[in-house]
Amino acid sequence: MKNFLAIFNWKMNPSSLKEALFIASQNDIKTKNVEVVVCPPFIFLSDIKKSIQNIKVGAQNCFFENQGSFTGETSPLMLKNLKIEYVILGHCERRLYFGETDEIISKKIKAVEVNGIYPILCVGENQKEKEKNLTFKVLKKQLQPILKIQRKPIIVAYEPVWAVGGNKPEEPSEIKKIKNFIYDFTERYGKIKNKDIKILYGGTVNDKNIKTIMEKGNVDGVLVGRASLYPKQSLKIIKILEKINADPR
Ligand code: PEP
Repeated sequence: MKNFLAIFNWKMNPSSLKEALFIASQNDIKTKNVEVVVCPPFIFLSDIKKSIQNIKVGAQNCFFENQGSFTGETSPLMLKNLKIEYVILGHCERRLYFGETDEIISKKIKAVEVNGIYPILCVGENQKEKEKNLTFKVLKKQLQPILKIQRKPIIVAYEPVWAVGGNKPEEPSEIKKIKNFIYDFTERYGKIKNKDIKILYGGTVNDKNIKTIMEKGNVDGVLVGRASLYPKQSLKIIKILEKINADPR
């Protein structure tokens, strides 16, 4: 895995394979030290996987069983057989609209790990929890599922719920505090060395704010939603990451 990660979460977009192939092709560039992972809806995974050369394809979710009577679900084994290397789990939209609990997410993480796929665990507080100063309490609960992961690096995306799909990202100084908290917590309770965990930030990242987020937030990459659907923006995001990487921090 390369040094920095750019995870592009297309959510339930675009609406045709033609558009999906176009967006992916625009991001398909050689990078030295930035791992670019486009995460389209399941229906486009296979075609996009075949169409790209330089970047990776990830899934936005999966179930925790490998096969069986689970109508509408996609299994980690199916993703493995498609040679998908990454899957986003615990995204706040899955928690909010599909009732995913930490227990379900924990089962999914185990299943994904068994199949040799990297889970990207999304964690973050909502607006009310932030106002009540509950961020660390929420994170302690949401981080439990990764404490026993064996396969390194472990990937965590800090995505404050109020900033996802919003108009303002979290302050970089706060992001840095959260990163240090995740480092300390996972080291203390999971004996995970800091070098074995990659911490990303997500929530209204775009080509204008990414440089400050990366440099002042000191994170290992970003999880980008809306901006990743606009190839000019996503390409710029990749190029900015590549440049940050080339410069010593
Ligand atoms: C996301 O989908 O995880 C996300 C961060 O979305 P956006 O960049 O649109 O806020």
